[in-house]
Amino acid sequence: MEIPAQSPPPDAAAPPQGVPRAGATPAAAAGTAGGGRATPPRPPSSLSPSRAADFMRCPLLYRLRVIDRLPEKPSQAATRGTVVHAVLERLFDAPAADRTAARARSMVAGEWERLLAARPELAGLFAAAEGAADPAALAAWLESAERLVDRWFTLEDPTRLEPAERELYVETVLESGLTLRGYVDRLDVAPVGGDLRVVDYKTGKAPRPQYADEPLFQMKFYALVLWRLRGVVPRRLQLVYLGSGDVLTYDPSEADLLATERKLLALWEAITEATRSGDWRPRRGPLCGWCDHQAVCPEFGGTPPPYPLADVPGARPAVGQNGTV
Ligand code: SF4
Repeated sequence: MEIPAQSPPPDAAAPPQGVPRAGATPAAAAGTAGGGRATPPRPPSSLSPSRAADFMRCPLLYRLRVIDRLPEKPSQAATRGTVVHAVLERLFDAPAADRTAARARSMVAGEWERLLAARPELAGLFAAAEGAADPAALAAWLESAERLVDRWFTLEDPTRLEPAERELYVETVLESGLTLRGYVDRLDVAPVGGDLRVVDYKTGKAPRPQYADEPLFQMKFYALVLWRLRGVVPRRLQLVYLGSGDVLTYDPSEADLLATERKLLALWEAITEATRSGDWRPRRGPLCGWCDHQAVCPEFGGTPPPYPLADVPGARPAVGQNGTV
């Protein structure tokens, strides 16, 4: 293994608290943040790790995010994740010797300003009850982001890393026609031998062992896509948990990734069937407390909106160019 070793797997002690990439809720990513539906509902056409996880957690959640595209409120935690990811990505623009913790900390406020310019509604995260700005809350939040950035330097040394890719968009169409896509935080390629290391930053804490499968599944998803795109199985998958200061690594095999592909195909079949039937069942779980959709969830006494694809005869997810699933 020519890629430098990292710290051992964590003594995981907390529930999964990974923060979504870019702080974008699914609706925000679809251009609906701030209210209103920007694009008409349509059948799903591809699968990303986040949406696959949604369906596994709760099919109704998947429907409300992917098909109904209901807006979701931005959160301080998710927005902090966006800012920290941006700092860790852009720090590598600097020469290796200048990638210091002080420099990274100093970038936090600028990345927040950049994000705010793109999404002015985020200012509401730091408003007092009457809507006035709350500078103390913003300062505390920026400090919390700086602490996460600082912790990264206890886990990795960016002066000794030269990532091959950062924020890499990957997409592939499987033989079945299913399109897989997503963003890889960082891809390292060993200078000798060309081994691939896939790195993902999490601003939450490392999960307890019983919750570790989900982030690992996400990493295997990326590994499968990269295998299909580059013809080589990534040597190492690495999850960097900034919230707890842990690094989880896993070295996948071809058999692992073939099993991941089978699981994704089964998942897609279930999504296809639910899209056609309109039967998206809620599944109550530990993460319901963080769900923005309790008001329309039968598990909490709500009623989902009318199914937007009900008038689409035999609605099926669009699939890739190779045909149907
Ligand atoms: S509240 Fe829970 S059960 Fe209801 S939609 Fe959200 S995740 Fe699913």
